[in-house]
Amino acid sequence: MRRACCHVRKVEPLNRALAGAQGWITGLRADQSEHRADVAFAEFDAARSLIKINPLFDWTRDRAADFTREHGVPVNTLHASGFLSIGCAPCTRAVAPGEPERAGRWWWEAEGKTECGLHVREAVHS
Ligand code: SF4
Repeated sequence: MRRACCHVRKVEPLNRALAGAQGWITGLRADQSEHRADVAFAEFDAARSLIKINPLFDWTRDRAADFTREHGVPVNTLHASGFLSIGCAPCTRAVAPGEPERAGRWWWEAEGKTECGLHVREAVHS
């Protein structure tokens, strides 16, 4: 049911938004989770037939935080309360110190499945 909810509320609307697009720029970082460890700078999203660019792929969380401070980028105030990854309210909790960044997303599921389906991993890496 969780996967069905994410598909209806996230995946299908994104697919509509990206329909006809040639490229997609994301904020994915390889250090966000094991599942994202092989994120590359550029990928071909075969499912959507477009080039996916991940300019922050090799940034750490600290580097991103430093950048936001140095450049005055607005940041969601929940980050300071332990919500290291923020999704829908019923499926997001704060994480304890030392927990992985995405541990607060769908925490009742098995480790490594903290994804909603937006970023399909069958993409071909460049
Ligand atoms: S994160 Fe939770 S509420 Fe949001 S779309 Fe997925 S299942 Fe539904």
